[in-house]
Amino acid sequence: VSKRERKDEERTWRGLGVSEGVAVGRVLRLHASARYIFRAPLDETEVANEIRRLRTAVRFARRQILSIKRRAERKLGADHAYIFDAHLLMLEDRRLLGDIETVVRDERVNAEWAIKVVTDRLIEAYAAIKDDYLRARHTDIEDVTRRLLVALGDAAEKEASKKRRREVSNLEENRAAPRLHSMPDSIIVAEELLPSAAAELDFTNVRAIVTDIGGWTSHTAIIARAMGVPSVVGLRDFYRQARTGDAAIVDARKGLVLLHPSAETRARYAEFANGSARAARTSEVSDETPPQTLTRDGVEIFLRANVELPAEFEGVRRFGARGIGLYRSEFLLMQAANLPSEDEQCATYEKVGRIAGADGAKVRLFDLGGDKLHPLLNQERGMLLDGSFAESGERNPALGLRAIRFGLKRTDILRTQIRAALRAAANAKIELVLPMISDIAEVRRTRAIIEEERAKLTREGRATGALKVGAMIEVPSVVMLAEQLAREVDFFSLGTNDLVQYLLAVDRGNDDVADWFRTLHPAVLRSIKQTLDAGERAAIAVNVCGEMAGTPAYAFILIGLGARDLSMTASSIPRVRQMLAHIEAETARRIAAETLQCATADEAETLVRERLSAHYPNVFTPDKLPAPKTVGA
Ligand code: PEP
Ligand code: MG
Repeated sequence: VSKRERKDEERTWRGLGVSEGVAVGRVLRLHASARYIFRAPLDETEVANEIRRLRTAVRFARRQILSIKRRAERKLGADHAYIFDAHLLMLEDRRLLGDIETVVRDERVNAEWAIKVVTDRLIEAYAAIKDDYLRARHTDIEDVTRRLLVALGDAAEKEASKKRRREVSNLEENRAAPRLHSMPDSIIVAEELLPSAAAELDFTNVRAIVTDIGGWTSHTAIIARAMGVPSVVGLRDFYRQARTGDAAIVDARKGLVLLHPSAETRARYAEFANGSARAARTSEVSDETPPQTLTRDGVEIFLRANVELPAEFEGVRRFGARGIGLYRSEFLLMQAANLPSEDEQCATYEKVGRIAGADGAKVRLFDLGGDKLHPLLNQERGMLLDGSFAESGERNPALGLRAIRFGLKRTDILRTQIRAALRAAANAKIELVLPMISDIAEVRRTRAIIEEERAKLTREGRATGALKVGAMIEVPSVVMLAEQLAREVDFFSLGTNDLVQYLLAVDRGNDDVADWFRTLHPAVLRSIKQTLDAGERAAIAVNVCGEMAGTPAYAFILIGLGARDLSMTASSIPRVRQMLAHIEAETARRIAAETLQCATADEAETLVRERLSAHYPNVFTPDKLPAPKTVGA
């Protein structure tokens, strides 16, 4: 059928570099439609019904493609509509459908999972094909897969309420999802890499991550930085244009992605072949015991690590973190596609506590929602565990059933996590953080639950430990109430990522509005100051744990506003420590005080650039200063 002869000429995409470094490798496209597919075991008696459901969906998808094909013929002519023949052929392919049915039958699993297993295998096989045209055909498989999954969802909708309960309990028994295979030197390419997919990646082979959507504080970016993998986001249509197996170069320093690099380009980037970009990063390592961090005028600053995945654990010691300032426990759910039991969670929190050492770990309750989507959220909204894309679940997930709101609805899940934390606290130094607090009542309710569970555990004869409780400060309402809130918690965790998002009404994961995400906006700086002051007056600690803390110029301003406790991706610690060793907290205070008087983000950014380069030209060289972001300029 090939009518296409494509010369693979070098092409360049420009995006936002969110994790430094350079990588040379081959494209591995992530199958977008399979992002939310989970495995649900079936009873023997349900298998026949599942196969019927699958066959109905196949018929439904065929009818859809036929009608699309007819429309395409009318609009584009038969010449171009041939592409749909390939899709139809797939849906008529006995072998393919037979394979899917076999997986349903043999493994006794839902049709969605079986489709994923079989089509993933197929896509992998295509990726290895030498012929460019044939290799490109794997997008057809993706297309058909997506259509099939949607068809399954439509057919299943009617049964939704009936089956919901059972599927919820099935989910809880799920086995871990298999790791995504990746070939050596993979450059992961996705429309948007959600944390659930990131958690499934086998990072040993990943050289870079590039996505069409995303921003500096999106969780893809956070993970990429945490893993020391170069990443460029906001490429708009790279996913559509790239094919698995294509040669590519990612230069995150300049925000560039090059597809089909020419021989000259390759030569220019030769030193980065074989994954040396990562090696360069890990050479910044510091000693074993966490060193004390002091400013030049002798003010002690605590630098702690943010941790998401087990792969980051070793970085805590390696980069000299004073314990774990934020453990994003929701990644535990992303990795397993199931709900870990109380015992499993307890073991994980103990481990996190052990890794953190004497300085302890702040374990945050599941912060599901926002860009950390999970099928559990859809279940809560009465939707089937049917592979529906989570984005179809809520119109506005950042303002939806996220974090503590979800926990207070699904108190079964919340209570299990709290019990696990209470038990872990008996053997490890951990504290608990409540995410997305917007009203003090949420804190009181959660604390009451903690005490109820503690009493229950004691009655059961189980040991529990002291557990300090802190609140995430990331919604503007609690900045305004910081004074009152400080009386009800043991510490604050200041999440600047969400604070900027909610304060400035700017989606943290949308590159179209990246210019409006202004960390130095005077309203943001005042909110931070207000929170730090409230903490100080109440004599409780305030740990700043958003991405702001890991950026030296921003960290400088944080110190100036009064922050003494910062948490960041472990690999950022050495450079922030180095900056701190060269500056005076008193100078930072004076400069920060000036920024608080600015009227616009532009003014504050200009002021910071001017003052930092004047006072510390050797520390804040031009490349280390935040680039100007003027909206509309
Ligand atoms: C934040 O919002 O700043 C934060 C630290 O939490 P997360 O990025 O996980 O939302
Ligand atoms: Mg947050």
